[in-house]
Amino acid sequence: MSNISIKCQKCRYELASSETSTILDCHEKPIKDTSRVTYSCNKNVMENNWYLSSTALPDWINNYVEEGDWQKGKLICPNCNLRVGSFDFVSGMKCQCKQFLLPQIHLVKSKVDIYFR
Ligand SMILES: [Zn+2]
Ligand SMILES: [Zn+2]
Repeated sequence: MSNISIKCQKCRYELASSETSTILDCHEKPIKDTSRVTYSCNKNVMENNWYLSSTALPDWINNYVEEGDWQKGKLICPNCNLRVGSFDFVSGMKCQCKQFLLPQIHLVKSKVDIYFR
């Protein structure tokens, strides 16, 4: 099984990795490798986010979520202050195919780089 690392696009700080977090697609399936290219439930629409399981979070995300009272808020890179994502435990947004609730914590693909080692 490959290790996945998500880094801030601006400063290369490691925001999350598969060693400490579970990185999910929009249907809460763990992402394991690059074999599924889009990780989107709608083949015609590119998914904009990577999702993280809320059961095991990196410390810096956990701090934001606790400060935000497990409601909603922004995730800012702890190293360079770039906004890299957000969390929302309130709205219960659904994915494109409307079959699943989106995982509550996400990192925006355009703000981060993902590496499969
Ligand atoms: Zn950064
Ligand atoms: Zn879907």
